[in-house]
Amino acid sequence: MSRDDLADLDLSCLWHPFTQHLEWCGTPPLVIHKAEGSWLIDGSGNRYLDGVSSLWTNVHGHRHPDLDAALLDQLNKVAHSTLLGLTHPPAIELAQALLARVPDTLSRVFYSDNGSTAVEVALKMAFQYQQQNGAPERTRFASLSDAYHGDTLGAVSVGSIGLFHRIYRPLLFDGVVLPAPSHPGGEEEQTMLERGLALLEVHGHELAALVVEPLVQGAAGMKMHSVPFLKTLLERARELGILLIADEVAVGFGRLGTLFAMEQVGVVPDFLCVAKGLGAGYLPIAATLAPESVYEGFLGEPEAHRQFFHGHTFTGNPLACAVALKSLQLFDSTDLLAHVQSLEAHLAKKLSELSTLPWVSSIRHRGVMIGIDLAKPDGQPFNPELRVGHQVAMAARAHGAILRPLGDTLVINPPLSIDLEETDHLLTALRSAILDTLQERR
Ligand code: PMP
Repeated sequence: MSRDDLADLDLSCLWHPFTQHLEWCGTPPLVIHKAEGSWLIDGSGNRYLDGVSSLWTNVHGHRHPDLDAALLDQLNKVAHSTLLGLTHPPAIELAQALLARVPDTLSRVFYSDNGSTAVEVALKMAFQYQQQNGAPERTRFASLSDAYHGDTLGAVSVGSIGLFHRIYRPLLFDGVVLPAPSHPGGEEEQTMLERGLALLEVHGHELAALVVEPLVQGAAGMKMHSVPFLKTLLERARELGILLIADEVAVGFGRLGTLFAMEQVGVVPDFLCVAKGLGAGYLPIAATLAPESVYEGFLGEPEAHRQFFHGHTFTGNPLACAVALKSLQLFDSTDLLAHVQSLEAHLAKKLSELSTLPWVSSIRHRGVMIGIDLAKPDGQPFNPELRVGHQVAMAARAHGAILRPLGDTLVINPPLSIDLEETDHLLTALRSAILDTLQERR
């Protein structure tokens, strides 16, 4: 099929996620046919640096020979077999490899297929655990303001991004929202912490769990808070008998320079939710890790019906597990976390150059997760109807980079394996796109 036919067909039959189709249908879609390393390639052979690692998933680059080989090897054995009533080697081996990389208190791996379900599983597990283990009054959840934990209704209930979540409010369960700061450190954060602690004192007795995106609230526009802020909230919550859910769907697998963000916080959560980078950007897979104490709270005679009533058809898919296992091994053999740490230092230097542009009002940066806020030169926000962030992201394509903004915050979150030259290409493309879009407006 020709490139034009494919684009027309997309417009006539696809419904894209988080997309206004009146706008989508206004410009021919960019169709990605291939990829290699950090690059996406369209039907004409044009190359674009994958600046958002295919929605924050890609770790070692596209078409990594070892990951491709692991996938093909598993394909030659079995593509799918269920974990309901059966088991298989890749699921077992991956669980063991994951547990070897987290503190000993986390001892059980429950698989699902995506970030939303990883969180949904943690919420339901925490709730059922409290119901079955002497705390039936603990029926509510606490979360942070501007949180995003996915799109299924439980995950949306603990989310508070107005634009995405408001319309569904009548369908959702009501929780306690602890205020999160927009920047780490400083007076604002201290005030937020005091308010959060006060809310925990009032509601602690009725809370089943507290769910957080540790250190970086990605979908909120890379909103960041400090280690002491999070640690203090989590430790107080634990003292009050509240279970702790760390949603590392976005920040996990090296994005902040450690395999998991909670290593930097210094608190072991009761539930660790992972997805995105777990499958290295190849296949959908997620996991919710839990401690033995929670696992034991579900044991009983079959007729007691204490088991966890949850499981998806493709839970623990063998192909995805095989790739995820190889990806974990690659973290070690390529010393990828050390690479992320050196990238972080390089990015800090390059981003400070970008901050001299008059439309860049603020830059937040941790590991390879970056949020760049655009505003008018006097610091006032652009009229949202102008969709400046979207325009800059579209302009970046002509300079060979794929970006996806969150409002007027440009997000950069490349594959962890990106090299320094590619990083410079990405930031140069971004600078050019900002100039193309905004220079006229000065
Ligand atoms: N939690 C966080 C922190 C996320 O960033 C996301 C997705 N961006 C999700 C959950 C949901 O993941 P998925 O899109 O795979 O359902």
